[in-house]
Amino acid sequence: MRLASKLPQVGTTIFTEMTQLAVQHGAVNLGQGFPDFEGPTHLREALTEAMAAGANQYAPMPGLPALREQLSRLAWERYGRRVDAGSEVTITSGGTEAIFAAIAATVDRGDEVILLDPCYDCYDPAVRLQGAVPVHVALRSSDFSIDWSLVKAAITPRTRMILVNTPHNPTGAVLAAQDLEALADLVRGTDIFVLSDEVYEFITFDGRPHQSVLRHAELAERSFVVGSFGKTFHCTGWKVGYAIASAALSAEFRKVHQFLTFCTFHPAQVALAKALEKDPNHLAELPGFYQERRDRFQALLKGTQFQLRPVLGSYFQVADYSAYSQEDDRTFCHRLVKEAGVAAIPLSAFYEARPEGRLIRFCFAKTDATLEAAAERLVRL
Ligand code: PMP
Repeated sequence: MRLASKLPQVGTTIFTEMTQLAVQHGAVNLGQGFPDFEGPTHLREALTEAMAAGANQYAPMPGLPALREQLSRLAWERYGRRVDAGSEVTITSGGTEAIFAAIAATVDRGDEVILLDPCYDCYDPAVRLQGAVPVHVALRSSDFSIDWSLVKAAITPRTRMILVNTPHNPTGAVLAAQDLEALADLVRGTDIFVLSDEVYEFITFDGRPHQSVLRHAELAERSFVVGSFGKTFHCTGWKVGYAIASAALSAEFRKVHQFLTFCTFHPAQVALAKALEKDPNHLAELPGFYQERRDRFQALLKGTQFQLRPVLGSYFQVADYSAYSQEDDRTFCHRLVKEAGVAAIPLSAFYEARPEGRLIRFCFAKTDATLEAAAERLVRL
């Protein structure tokens, strides 16, 4: 039997590879992006209560109304956008499902989708599986901002979607209000959709507001905005996310969601709706909580020769290791895990073309003890 892979270029991901190496070498794992601490106790209790109370059958296909109402409230309070909970919000099995469904619902064979490198690893395969073409455009290597003239140059009559991500994984960059204007200028009068991956929407630093495309009326009309409760409530393993889009876009989105998963884990939706309703402080405290992690990690790395890039949002720190070595980032990460006992991710893993520079990504969504243990090893490098 012949099996022609639909994703021949996809192998074991660098995340799996580095995690395996970390386990093998007893390394501190700052590679994969997840917290090593628990979310709010009341949230986990609400989950078990929901199961005990019988929320164990299919949830409504578009998601639990109470949870969609909470997201509608947040869109209004945070971004000044009226979002209809009934027709414009869909709960998904993680941000990952929302990204796949938005692409599958809108992108056809032969279409082009503009991705900005470095970018999260699920975008490219989701585009390829539609028979469409990912067109990778590099962010500026100096500060990971978007060079909109390069995006403009990449647009062709086949361009169907532009994918942006703010706050950004892996770089910690965020979009500014002018970026939304630049994006709106480029897509005005075209049939180009925007997929805005905002899974770190509640994690921005130094008082910066999150520039959701929902703030921008013109962009909101043609955008799918993707979020994830995994990031917001420190429960990445629950895989509950959401997509916000106009009623017309949501209707097409739901046709895919309906046959991809139909609906999302019911008890978690009950628990998350309750947490959002009863504990608004959690969201209010999240930026400060992660800013403290960032500052702590950066202070701990002062004794090393890593040059740290600014982190304006998300929970990732990009570090330049050129003071240590001129080897490529993958080789350096292998040596770092084996010799220093710390796992990180080479930045090239997020690019289609090999990038310039000697950069790796650390995740600082970790306890003090983990960050201190990592730093202790890194200062000995
Ligand atoms: N987008 C980005 C930028 C992410 O970092 C992640 C998770 N690492 C996702 C999407 C996927 O979110 P989820 O875990 O909710 O599927």
